[in-house]
Amino acid sequence: MIQENISLKKYNTFGIDVTARYFSPFKTIDELNELLEFNQPSNNQSPSILVLGGGSNLLFTTNFDGLVLKNEIPGIEKVNEDDDYVYIKAGAGVNWHNLVMHCINHDWAGVENLSLIPGNTGASPMQNIGAYGVEIKDVFYELEAYHLEEKKIATFNLKDCEFGYRESVFKRKFKNQFVVTTVTYRLHKKPVFNTTYGAIEQELQAMGIHQLSIGAISQAVINIRRSKLPDPAVIGNAGSFFKNPEIGVEEFETVKNNFPNVIGYKLPNGNVKLAAGWLIEQCGWKGYRKNDAGCHAKQALVLVNYGNAKGEEIFELSREIINSVNEKFGVLLEREVNIV
Ligand SMILES: Cc1cc2nc3c(=O)[nH]c(=O)nc-3n(C[C@H](O)[C@H](O)[C@H](O)COP(=O)(O)OP(=O)(O)OC[C@H]3O[C@@H](n4cnc5c(N)ncnc54)[C@H](O)[C@@H]3O)c2cc1C
Repeated sequence: MIQENISLKKYNTFGIDVTARYFSPFKTIDELNELLEFNQPSNNQSPSILVLGGGSNLLFTTNFDGLVLKNEIPGIEKVNEDDDYVYIKAGAGVNWHNLVMHCINHDWAGVENLSLIPGNTGASPMQNIGAYGVEIKDVFYELEAYHLEEKKIATFNLKDCEFGYRESVFKRKFKNQFVVTTVTYRLHKKPVFNTTYGAIEQELQAMGIHQLSIGAISQAVINIRRSKLPDPAVIGNAGSFFKNPEIGVEEFETVKNNFPNVIGYKLPNGNVKLAAGWLIEQCGWKGYRKNDAGCHAKQALVLVNYGNAKGEEIFELSREIINSVNEKFGVLLEREVNIV
């Protein structure tokens, strides 16, 4: 049933209190189809649509004057296997971390480094979620998505998704055209451990782990994330607000001449990836707060809502941060969070 003028505060991890003109969850494609038949009583036209998962990568800057469709398609199923892999198909409404735990409990390897990322499986390919040296593209097999105009399901394989760093075809040429309904992941039967990134090895040592397992890696990642990132249930946020910028090697040399401590990672394509958090911190934003909008005290990459911030205030803060980083370093930050 379609609800009217409801608050979206509990449906976005920033905790921004805006309203949706119309709102409805759906659990099946038939339900989705029915909802798409809905015309606004005022003008007999179909409203604009926003597909919502866990609301953990969104910043609402204004009330949404359309229909919010909350994707709650359930189900986790093993659909195939061969000597090396299992193929796990998940409904887009399945909570991502629950899927990770399900895989670990079944000894299916590949997603353990992605433990505790908020949100749902349906959004995992949208920005090719990644953490601790692993991205969705490393375990992705295919997805099914419903075309909003053509009203039919299309299947996308790895190549079709055009994954990049926090990017996919769904954020670019197919933006707002598809509703992801299921995602199939290809997971290893024999684990390939990936512990080189961040503080995983240190954390495993601190945990007293001698026999490596995907469960131990998952727990190490959970511990690190809990110590570093603000819990949205306590302080509203959407994780990293900005992407780590990629610049050319010459540009990097110029920055390095002026700021010898700059942190940069060489990429296979010859460019250099800078740590956006470091750049922001150098501009003095870490721990900054104006009214209820702020830049987190432990992690400058994360913008926060201390309670009653408006989306516009957080957006304005992000604009000021982008400008100051550009003035100081000549580097343009890009927002990772989707602005609505
Ligand atoms: C504390 C915290 C830590 C985080 N850490 C990480 C991290 O380590 N790595 C990382 O990559 N991200 C991270 N994120 C960001 C976020 O968790 C991911 O981007 C996640 O995939 C978003 O999922 P969601 O279901 O909440 O998407 P939503 O926020 O609901 O939606 C995000 C976008 O995808 C669209 N969308 C959602 N579902 C569908 C669907 N089924 N079909 C079509 N479009 C859809 C929405 O319209 C919107 O544009 C973090 C966020 C938080 C709050």
